[in-house]
Amino acid sequence: MGVGDSVEGSASQGGAVQGGAAQGGAAQGCAAQGGANEDSGRILLVDDDPALGEYLRRVLTSRGFEVVHELDSEGALQRIMTAHFDLLISDIELPGMNGLELLERARQAAPGLPVALLTGHPSVDYAVTALRGSAAEFLLKPVSATGLIAKATTLIEAGRAARAAGRETVLAIGAHPDDVEIGAGGTLLAHSAGGDSVAILTLSRGARGGDQGQRARESQEAADIIGARLYLDDLDDTCIPEGGPAIDAIGRVIAEVQPGIVYTHSVHDVHQDHRNTHRAAMVACRRVGRVYCFQSPSATIDYHPTRFVPVDSYMGRKLKVIGVFGSQAGIRDYLDPDLITSTARYWARYCDSVHAEPFEVIRDRSHAPAAGAAGADPEEGR
Ligand SMILES: [Zn+2]
Repeated sequence: MGVGDSVEGSASQGGAVQGGAAQGGAAQGCAAQGGANEDSGRILLVDDDPALGEYLRRVLTSRGFEVVHELDSEGALQRIMTAHFDLLISDIELPGMNGLELLERARQAAPGLPVALLTGHPSVDYAVTALRGSAAEFLLKPVSATGLIAKATTLIEAGRAARAAGRETVLAIGAHPDDVEIGAGGTLLAHSAGGDSVAILTLSRGARGGDQGQRARESQEAADIIGARLYLDDLDDTCIPEGGPAIDAIGRVIAEVQPGIVYTHSVHDVHQDHRNTHRAAMVACRRVGRVYCFQSPSATIDYHPTRFVPVDSYMGRKLKVIGVFGSQAGIRDYLDPDLITSTARYWARYCDSVHAEPFEVIRDRSHAPAAGAAGADPEEGR
């Protein structure tokens, strides 16, 4: 039985989205943790005392947690901007940016990330500030091994439950490897960081743009950084049709993923594969409530976005994702990090941020029924 079967009778979008998310969550967590046991958690530990940090790391890893230890906040913030964690445990007294400042920055970069703050000097001020900053926990040193493990387990489980509760299911559809990542990489990272279940469908393996196997590996690596499930179809590069095979390929993934939100190509694009992917997606996604079109480097002057998603906290990771497509770098100047960054900088003039990704809005029905829940309508769009 697939996800589609289990949610077909759902009366509300909430039920359907949760049904899809439950499965997606496991896959997403696993991918984001680089193959670690999906039941354990990935913890970022920040303590400027190497010996104490090493002790805490050993206590936590002995119970199956994957732990990254950083000695300062700057290093920790870089980690948060470039990888997925289930819990941040930080000392408050740190050189440079202290633990409370790190907490605030972490909240911006990874809104759903639970945080526990450690201190050897308890004071009411600290506790009040930490709570106002919605720190999940406030831990007093010395922390016992059993106490630390219990807290970590509780916080990670609570964080996962909170993310699952408000979860959206998102599908991004591109013609070739790197299309989705360039057009919506920051937005997908934001969805993923917010706990949404993200899937990427790439219709062709891009044989004309390099070795197929290598491009498939690059696509998987990029999806892992985003924390997305990857569906890689095998339509002919440069010959993607707008009809049957492309609609069927997209329809199969829609039925499995049950997205509430779809991102895909714009029709305002000089590349025929991009236009045909757009047209096929419009048919296959006819029941999806929210459909948006990203900008490709081959977009025409008629590309006319009206939705702008701030991606300031995700630009570092987006560039890392784009950088994965190594077989294209050097021969494709549209992958130039400076172009990616300055394009995002340009679109931010229409919203309240420094970097943004633009989208044309096809449909924006927030409370539409989940896609694919009803049976296929053979007369519609074929
Ligand atoms: Zn493309």
